[in-house]
Amino acid sequence: MNIAVCVKPVPEPRHYDKIIINPATKLLERKGIPMIINPVDKNAIEAALQLKEQFGGKVVLVSMAPPDTRETIKEGLAMGADEAYLLSDRAFAGADTLATARVLAAGLTKIGGLDLILTGSASADGGTNHIPSQLGELMGFAHLNHLTELHLEASTIKMKTKIENGYVEYEGSLPLVLGVARELNTPRYTTLMGVVIAQNKPFTTWGLKDLGLDPSNTGLSGSPTQPGDLHMPQHGQKAQMFAGEPEDMAGKIIAILRTAGVLD
Ligand SMILES: Cc1cc2nc3c(=O)[nH]c(=O)nc-3n(C[C@H](O)[C@H](O)[C@H](O)COP(=O)(O)OP(=O)(O)OC[C@H]3O[C@@H](n4cnc5c(N)ncnc54)[C@H](O)[C@@H]3O)c2cc1C
Repeated sequence: MNIAVCVKPVPEPRHYDKIIINPATKLLERKGIPMIINPVDKNAIEAALQLKEQFGGKVVLVSMAPPDTRETIKEGLAMGADEAYLLSDRAFAGADTLATARVLAAGLTKIGGLDLILTGSASADGGTNHIPSQLGELMGFAHLNHLTELHLEASTIKMKTKIENGYVEYEGSLPLVLGVARELNTPRYTTLMGVVIAQNKPFTTWGLKDLGLDPSNTGLSGSPTQPGDLHMPQHGQKAQMFAGEPEDMAGKIIAILRTAGVLD
């Protein structure tokens, strides 16, 4: 069973305040910010490793990211994945979700022989949830997102996704693209031995030419989503402080809301 897991390096949450949007290019700038593997992508790695333990085969990691994210991706190798592919080229910069999915699909197709492609349900920074379905469409595989349960029996996968009032059950045949939710499992810890072994696992970097992609389909030029105007929210409205008994303060707030037309 050959499984690919798409992993996205995202900024470490403690450094979110350092992410800026360049006003000229309108692109996110994350330079110098420590990166981690998108947390739910570790649930996808865990699911892949459990399937490998049950059915054999190999687990490969695939990421479209800048070259300096190699060490971040190696954390997935330390968890137990067998190989990593970093898809990296200046021509991929500024990609929206469609241009990202095209690059990932080209990498996954070049790797070939895959039975299952797992992703996280959403990234912690972009968070569009687009990639699993876009990858499925581009690869010609059936796809499903937000999986909370996953059982493989022969070549049939039984799956559950969570909805507001319960669950929906699905059955599918391989090959599939599946986006997993955090409820699916608890990712294993990386061990010191795992970190040491990861240093010698195969790590391949492919660029635009290796993937045979046309630059007009990648990066900013291949992205149908173009940012509009940027506006800073207006600050500086005066706050009014109340003191006294809660009932009196509630009465004053209600009066203000009535004056503003928020309450009848
Ligand atoms: C106009 C525009 C310009 C942008 N420019 C940049 C830029 O210059 N640099 C930049 O970093 N981002 C940029 N982005 C954001 C970038 O397009 C998205 O982060 C990316 O396309 C994935 O979308 P998402 O994070 O919403 O993925 P989601 O669909 O929320 O992610 C779901 C899952 O897909 C997988 N996945 C997502 N992205 C990747 C990836 N890159 N590699 C491997 N697996 C992945 C992961 O498993 C993830 O859990 C830009 C977005 C727009 C709209």
